[in-house]
Amino acid sequence: ESLINRIAAGEIIHRPANALKELLENALDAGATTIKISVKDGGLKLLQIVDNGSGIRKADLPLLAARFCTSKLSTFSDLSKIQTYGFRGEALASISHVAHLSVVTKTREESCAWKASYSDGVLAPSKPGATEEPKPTAGNDGTTITVEDLFYNTPLRLRALKSPSDEYSRILDVVQRYAIHNPTVSFLCKKAGSNTADVTTPSSGTVKSAIKTIYGPSVAKELLEAKAEAGKKDDFEWEAEVWFTSANYHVKKPTFLLFINHRSVDSVRVRRAVEAVYNGILPKGTFGFIYLSLVIDPSKVDVNVHPTKREVHFLEEERITEHVADAMQTVLAANDQ
Ligand code: ADP
Ligand code: MG
Repeated sequence: ESLINRIAAGEIIHRPANALKELLENALDAGATTIKISVKDGGLKLLQIVDNGSGIRKADLPLLAARFCTSKLSTFSDLSKIQTYGFRGEALASISHVAHLSVVTKTREESCAWKASYSDGVLAPSKPGATEEPKPTAGNDGTTITVEDLFYNTPLRLRALKSPSDEYSRILDVVQRYAIHNPTVSFLCKKAGSNTADVTTPSSGTVKSAIKTIYGPSVAKELLEAKAEAGKKDDFEWEAEVWFTSANYHVKKPTFLLFINHRSVDSVRVRRAVEAVYNGILPKGTFGFIYLSLVIDPSKVDVNVHPTKREVHFLEEERITEHVADAMQTVLAANDQ
């Protein structure tokens, strides 16, 4: 039984970066304005995320890592309305099946923090002989999630991974994306024990300033902005914000950051459509930098995508992306005058 759970969990959490993405989204959903991440061995030894969000009530701790346990929808009929998508209530449960998971959390109302550890979906003693009950401890408002020894019990999953440094760069990529998309949240990501941060952003930025902090001035000085939104012919609401480089910037490696309803996702079709604005403008084989945030009526986004498939679909995909590409083209042309 636990083997089946482990295999299922490995389908959802298949590498450290994707555990981290889930934990980051939880911290952001909890309203955090400061998020600090420390990583050891590419996230395989340690992945720790400290947020100053709402915290978790003590009463909610026993079921925290139970499968399908989520505070983000009350009934299944809400599923099409929630702003988030993907399978709900599976992240912490999955992590608890393939790693040592512990939580220290404090809500504003509670006078002390509570610490709990989990194994296979349920509360577990933090060390042999200890009680499994949550224990009072000192702690700030917010939540610290500690994931240790990821995939210690799934050697096949472990063997499929790249080197720790490769896994760490994937982690940095996730943090950078979310830091750009959430410029009023301060992010810090470093290797555990190191004094130097590999990502650090202030809590008072804009998308543009965060791009500058992370990708540097050569990208930032060529950034153009385009906006688009649903018109009269559309029968549902959507809006797009794009930050992209002008014809003066071109590199061999494309950077495409796509957010749909505030989740970092992939869509080959959307990427191809917006990258095509550079056809005939940039030298062959070179690319620009594109950040695209789409907010779409959530009932029009496919919520049933499996969490490992970051590929997302939505209604009127082709028409919406064409509209976005047109807006970019107009800005590019005006910039060229
Ligand atoms: P989901 O996010 O889909 O609800 P998760 O397994 O990611 O499922 O998290 C389960 C629940 O744990 C969340 O619904 C939320 O109530 C709580 N939770 C997890 N992380 C945090 C956090 N950092 N701050 C506050 N609550 C959290
Ligand atoms: Mg979650």
